[in-house]
Amino acid sequence: MTNLITQTSDGGLSVPDSPIIPYVEGDGVGPEVTAAMQSVINHAVQTVYSGQRSIVWKEVLAGGKAYERTGEWLPEETMQAFRHYLVGIKGPLTTPVGGGVRSLNVALRQGLDLFVCLRPVRWFEGVESPVKRPQDVDVTVFRENTEDIYAGIEWEAGTPEAEKFLRFLREEMGVNKVRFPGSSSLGIKPISREGTERLVRAAAQYAITTGRKRLTLVHKGNIMKFTEGGFKRWGYEVVEREFAEDIQAGRLVVDDCIADAFLQNALLKPEAYRVVATPNLNGDYISDMLAAQVGGIGISPGANINYTTGHAIFEATHGTAPDIAGTDKANPCSLILSACMMLRHIGWSEAAEAIEAAITSCFQQGKATADLARFMKNGTPLSTSSFAAAVIENTSI
Ligand code: ATP
Repeated sequence: MTNLITQTSDGGLSVPDSPIIPYVEGDGVGPEVTAAMQSVINHAVQTVYSGQRSIVWKEVLAGGKAYERTGEWLPEETMQAFRHYLVGIKGPLTTPVGGGVRSLNVALRQGLDLFVCLRPVRWFEGVESPVKRPQDVDVTVFRENTEDIYAGIEWEAGTPEAEKFLRFLREEMGVNKVRFPGSSSLGIKPISREGTERLVRAAAQYAITTGRKRLTLVHKGNIMKFTEGGFKRWGYEVVEREFAEDIQAGRLVVDDCIADAFLQNALLKPEAYRVVATPNLNGDYISDMLAAQVGGIGISPGANINYTTGHAIFEATHGTAPDIAGTDKANPCSLILSACMMLRHIGWSEAAEAIEAAITSCFQQGKATADLARFMKNGTPLSTSSFAAAVIENTSI
């Protein structure tokens, strides 16, 4: 009996009853939220599947702990483990000071070509929100993760590189539109057909399999006609080519929205959106704006996924919170809800549902960590470990 999650020939996952899942504890509050997450997940899986299933956690090192023990921020062994076991999870990581790695999160994403940043946003009853009907917000954002201005191709004003590039633009491309050429920094925004297709394909598949149906392409194609406009055009083309039957049968409805209009609509009629596919920068703004709308910026879950190879890393979306590290105060919900996404990803939805119901029930009773409890009517601030215990107590089949 193997413990290995593998990819099936049709691109799905074959998951044994006791899969090995590599995890990175994370820096700062990482160890506390990871311990809380694992206790909640272990209990739910054990309860829901009557002991038939369990997760075999395998610690792998990254961040400060890795640096202390191995002298490297992201050891090759860790990359190998994520490659080998397909599905993993990680706590928040500190950004290395000095040394070759710019950001560990970016290095992981690039190393495994995790092209989708998946951010589901929904409201939990009891959580204070700035809008009137937070219950109407239930959107899953597919943010492109490898292209756009995030490619990091830019030159600083006044450098020989910026001057050279500007000269190329002027002399070879006939570009005379740079308003202040002498003092402009310049950047490149690559958006490709391939990159768009694989993102929109994954989002369409998700809209169909989850029964969410509606997929909205959010772009700024009215201004950036070939990059963001290309995203819209290639997006429509791929769904029309590959999902024609689903569209005809009403299992998939695809539309698009200009990014600025989307931000307004998402506030006024959030129920209109169910799945959103969008380029990298728009996705950054949109995910956090939607999360803020449900009061959930501190508890939002996330994942980085390559739907072609099956590689997926689930993660806490907040930072390392060094100011409260080691005090048993951190809110573990971001990592717990990311683990719920992971359970759904491997087909163990029943356990994910049980945990989400338990969290809802805790919030309804005003039981939460201090960051949320202070805004709740009858809120009782709990420590990280006591909150995990409360979730466990409220988990039932
Ligand atoms: P980093 O450099 O790793 O991004 P940071 O402190 O700059 O760390 P965050 O970790 O996102 O950024 O923290 C911002 C604020 O939010 C801090 O005051 C922190 O205590 C708080 N915070 C972040 N995560 C949590 C959490 N899980 N529970 C409670 N408070 C949190």
